[in-house]
Amino acid sequence: MNTDCLFCRIARGEAKADVVYRTPTLVAIRDINPQAPTHVLVIPTEHVETLGDTADAEFLGSLLVAASEVARRERIDLRGYRVVINNKAESGQTVPHIHLHVLGGRAMKWPPG
Ligand code: AMP
Ligand code: ZN
Repeated sequence: MNTDCLFCRIARGEAKADVVYRTPTLVAIRDINPQAPTHVLVIPTEHVETLGDTADAEFLGSLLVAASEVARRERIDLRGYRVVINNKAESGQTVPHIHLHVLGGRAMKWPPG
């Protein structure tokens, strides 16, 4: 637990968020600044900053399984959706607590900006 971390506080229910899915080890919330009609963040309760800060395959796998479940619940799984993890400054990561963006509900471009 990092008391200064927004996503630690959200994952523990100590800061307000629009929760769409929860397990004992993670929470999925609507992004406050959505970049697609559906934009959900999958956030683990455990404070890990970036992908490079863990080699725990079970932990990382649980995040992907949750992203798939969120996509199904949000009904974006059949048409298609994107899952993104930004890591460190050049990627655009602004909250240093690992999270998966689940984006859908519109056609996506490639390469990303
Ligand atoms: P990233 O840029 O990959 O670190 O993503 C951080 C995301 O968190 C951004 O898409 C923000 O819009 C989102 N965000 C920041 N604060 C909140 C909040 N209080 N509730 C929901 N989403 C948030
Ligand atoms: Zn944190």
